[in-house]
Amino acid sequence: KAKIKVQTPLVELDGDEMTRIMWQMVKEILLRPYLDLPVEYYDLSIQHRDETNDQVTRNAAEAIKRYGVGVKCATITANEDRVREYQLKEAWKSPNATIRATLDGTVFRKPILVRNIRPAVSSWKKPIIVGRHAYGDVYNNSEIRVDVPGTAELVFTPLNGNPIRRKIHDFSAPGIIQGIHNTDESISSFARSCFAFALDQKIDLWFSTKDTISKIYDARFREIFAEEYEHSWKEAFEKENIEYFFTLIDDAVARIMKSEGGILWALKNYDGDVLSDMIASANGSLAMMTSVLVSPQGYFEYEAAHGTVQKHYYKHLRGEETSSNSTALIFAWSGGLRKRAEFDSTPDVALFAEMLEAATLETIEAGIMTGDLLLVADPTPANRKVNTLGFIEAIAANLEKKLNSL
Ligand code: NAD
Repeated sequence: KAKIKVQTPLVELDGDEMTRIMWQMVKEILLRPYLDLPVEYYDLSIQHRDETNDQVTRNAAEAIKRYGVGVKCATITANEDRVREYQLKEAWKSPNATIRATLDGTVFRKPILVRNIRPAVSSWKKPIIVGRHAYGDVYNNSEIRVDVPGTAELVFTPLNGNPIRRKIHDFSAPGIIQGIHNTDESISSFARSCFAFALDQKIDLWFSTKDTISKIYDARFREIFAEEYEHSWKEAFEKENIEYFFTLIDDAVARIMKSEGGILWALKNYDGDVLSDMIASANGSLAMMTSVLVSPQGYFEYEAAHGTVQKHYYKHLRGEETSSNSTALIFAWSGGLRKRAEFDSTPDVALFAEMLEAATLETIEAGIMTGDLLLVADPTPANRKVNTLGFIEAIAANLEKKLNSL
């Protein structure tokens, strides 16, 4: 059978450790045999980032801007241990942070659901996608520990004009103070990314903050979302029959626990940090969570939400068998291919992406799975643990059948 042609190169960002090994297997076994797939390749392995003084990461981010769609393997974020382990020139910045800074995006995390792994919350039937604002608030804060009596004030000094002061608290005993900020520009770009993503996926968008208590700070988030919706998205949402819904964060949490899912939940930085981990864990395994960076200009970068699976890599280096789960990596590729197909108007590529995802899910649903899933799947006699390569080969056998029956 002739290979399916992908018209425009996908920007490929290779990575580290166990995920680098799985990445190669996915390409060789699940993609190359079926696709004529041009790629603009960037090697973001820690060694190559070090050799290029991290220029390769910046180049890769620029390439995503040029071509529109990137697919990224997990990468090591260097810390002191890694500097020693790989004898690095320095602890290079997190590649994800560099790419986010270049593309100015919001990260959306979506669980991959299979029939034989039940979410901890029984009403969840469809994925709950979290869109987390990734700028400001407590992540760029300024704090003081107070140990003598005194007055804490919030002071804003304009470039021209008189300072504005607000009293925070008169301390008569020890305590703590924190100052945080955000910018209209960052909130607007977060809002635009969320509206664009919900529209792309044709799902409702919920946004929630504590604006009843935080009448200026959180209220500004609510206002910007509302203005953005009215001006730029309302018509398109109504046409697709989807809804934008704002509610208090405590009300949203209560509703989420009883909802069916199938929504995008936009959250401020800290709320998103905490609640996305809750949702990931309630869905079974880190390897069943996809992640996509969507820029307000419409660039997309797909990846797995997990890291490089370091412990499995060391086992692999010792020659021991591993059972690492490549599901989220496969979905990074299928996500990138589907978006490429949409931009290029190539429905055969979109169909391939769909078949690849279906083959993966059906493999797991037939009981053929990696160790992480075996721990959380419904126990049945059909369940069989396979190794890293065995899992990908089982998916390939399913995919082959599907493509032949087209
Ligand atoms: P990790 O996600 O690699 O692993 C955490 C745990 O989750 C592992 O112990 C493993 O049991 C399980 N797990 C994760 N993915 C799995 C898979 N595909 N199959 C089976 N089990 C899986 O995170 P970590 O150990 O904290 O970090 C390892 C490295 O990854 C670090 O160097 C870190 O900087 C990097 N990291 C990269 C990204 C990214 O590139 N997006 C994200 C997180 C961590």
